[in-house]
Amino acid sequence: MMSAPIAERPTGAAPATGVLRQPPGLYLLFAVEMWERFSYYGMRAILVLFIADSARGGLGWSQSAASRFFGLYGFFAYALPVAGGYVADRFIGTQRAMIIGGLTIAAGHFCLAVPALPMFYLGLTLVVIGTGFFKPNVSTMVGQLFRQGDGRRDGAFTIFYMGVNVGAFFGQIVCGYFGESPRWGWHYAFGAAGVGMLFGLALHMRLKRKYLPGIGEAPDRQAVAKAKLSAGPLTREERDRLTALLVIILLTIPFWMAFEQAGSSMNFFAAERTNRVVWGYTFPASWLQSVNSGVLILSAPLFAALWTALARRGREPSTPAKMSAAMVLLAGGFVFMVLGAERSDRGVLVSPWWLIGAYALHTFGELCLSPIGLSLVTKLSPLKFASLLMGLWFFATSISELLAGQLASITGKVARGELFHLFGGQADFYFIFVTSSALAAVALAVFAPWLRRRMHGRDT
Ligand code: GLN
Repeated sequence: MMSAPIAERPTGAAPATGVLRQPPGLYLLFAVEMWERFSYYGMRAILVLFIADSARGGLGWSQSAASRFFGLYGFFAYALPVAGGYVADRFIGTQRAMIIGGLTIAAGHFCLAVPALPMFYLGLTLVVIGTGFFKPNVSTMVGQLFRQGDGRRDGAFTIFYMGVNVGAFFGQIVCGYFGESPRWGWHYAFGAAGVGMLFGLALHMRLKRKYLPGIGEAPDRQAVAKAKLSAGPLTREERDRLTALLVIILLTIPFWMAFEQAGSSMNFFAAERTNRVVWGYTFPASWLQSVNSGVLILSAPLFAALWTALARRGREPSTPAKMSAAMVLLAGGFVFMVLGAERSDRGVLVSPWWLIGAYALHTFGELCLSPIGLSLVTKLSPLKFASLLMGLWFFATSISELLAGQLASITGKVARGELFHLFGGQADFYFIFVTSSALAAVALAVFAPWLRRRMHGRDT
């Protein structure tokens, strides 16, 4: 993934410009990732609905099987980045990996657009392989724009993360509309996702030479610098930082496990238990997922300003403290789900505000954990492991996706009281995530001082 160590890089070969202050390469990476996420989240928004649909040309599986399959898909989409990163790192560089990845993803979506079962499997396989090549490399390249200690790094990751969500937002709206509209249908939505990916790819190919010069080339050019750096064991401080980072990565698993209910159980909740009629128009269930990305785009600058304001007073919370807050917010979001589910269990369609409230809190939590985490990976990892650790960051999400899918697949069982009984109905299912998130919050708070010591001053 990293074709050269961060410290050996020119600052992205891109001077800070007066108005933007960030390297211009960041905005290219923003736009390319935006289109990739457009395709990823657009397709993801309708995937379980398509799999479980039997009336409009879907696969007609049970919701439980659809959720389990969705978890497996998420697992591969986030696990393969480890391999994609390795290949980029060792052989082809991040630039080429992104192009191969983008092409493979687009091919995957176009296969999905063909209504035949073998094409469905082939399409998803291509999407996950392509994502493996694409996803971690684009994040690592953001890190490669900066030297160690450059104060713009956190801000850059926040901006980049907004790109992720602008893409996700429009992907969910566009693909959700095509997929759920009686006029169009699922396969048009998959096609639209493919077109989005092609836009991103075209942009990258046209502008990379200009805005990302010398970044992400195949590794042979920097082999010497690399060999020099990989010689010698890690220092004690580097080992400490690595330990802290690994524990933090591990602790993101319960976060994404709960958060990723969005694509499965919460998507079904939107489709079946929510009143989606506004002024006589029934909006697509998948649109509710875009509340996450929409709220994120609006509130990311506020969070960035909050951290800066706190930092100015010398009171910026450490990363473990922010992550603990993220878990509390997530638990709070699921309290909304418990309350909404409880009402829906009485057999009425509930207000969409329950889901909107849940997604808004989840988003605030995401802002306390995800962009900060990406930045932290590039700050804490010893240079020679930077790419591998970015892959590991996503690998943790892959475990979460698997667990999320498995849990979503038992929604019905829990709701019927076959496993345990608290309030009864689906409320019990969502209460699982209130509990897991609260426990993770406590674990993070307890570990925080231990983690901070091991970060040796790079803890905010
Ligand atoms: N929304 C983020 C993205 O798609 C989440 C990634 C993750 O680490 N789970 O980039």
